[in-house]
Amino acid sequence: MPNKNDLEQKEYRMLYARKYREKNRERDREKNLEYGRKYRAEHKDRIRELTRRWIRQNSVRNNELNVAERDRLKLAVFTHYAINGEIKCCKCGFNDLRALTIDHIDNNGAEERRRLFGHRMYAGTTFYRWLRKNNYPNNGYQILCANCNWIKKVEYNRCRK
Ligand SMILES: [Zn+2]
Repeated sequence: MPNKNDLEQKEYRMLYARKYREKNRERDREKNLEYGRKYRAEHKDRIRELTRRWIRQNSVRNNELNVAERDRLKLAVFTHYAINGEIKCCKCGFNDLRALTIDHIDNNGAEERRRLFGHRMYAGTTFYRWLRKNNYPNNGYQILCANCNWIKKVEYNRCRK
């Protein structure tokens, strides 16, 4: 390219490089993932420091992103355990996502969470992440609303006495 100053040259090269990456994204997927893993491993401390600084300087935005990520995660989990595409309590049909829970059909939720996370109170997001990471195990989970979940708990405890 004639008559380009240095800045234009640089912009041109960056644009070309970006187009190249986009064009070959599928072909280079594994290589790029490997590069990313290696880079993150080698720059762990620097990345942690920059991340902390960004969170400090953007706490509002960071909260928004966290909330959005949790909402996406919850929706993905409940979409998976929905029956016929409907996200609702499998006992009474209540369908406000805010008060729906993933229920352990065999009443082993507390025991399972203790085994997985070392603490029985880790429900919610940590549990949803675990479900996603493990490709949504199909056995033993159902959607219950908070009411039906509570009633089930009371009845279970009563019949154990
Ligand atoms: Zn219900």
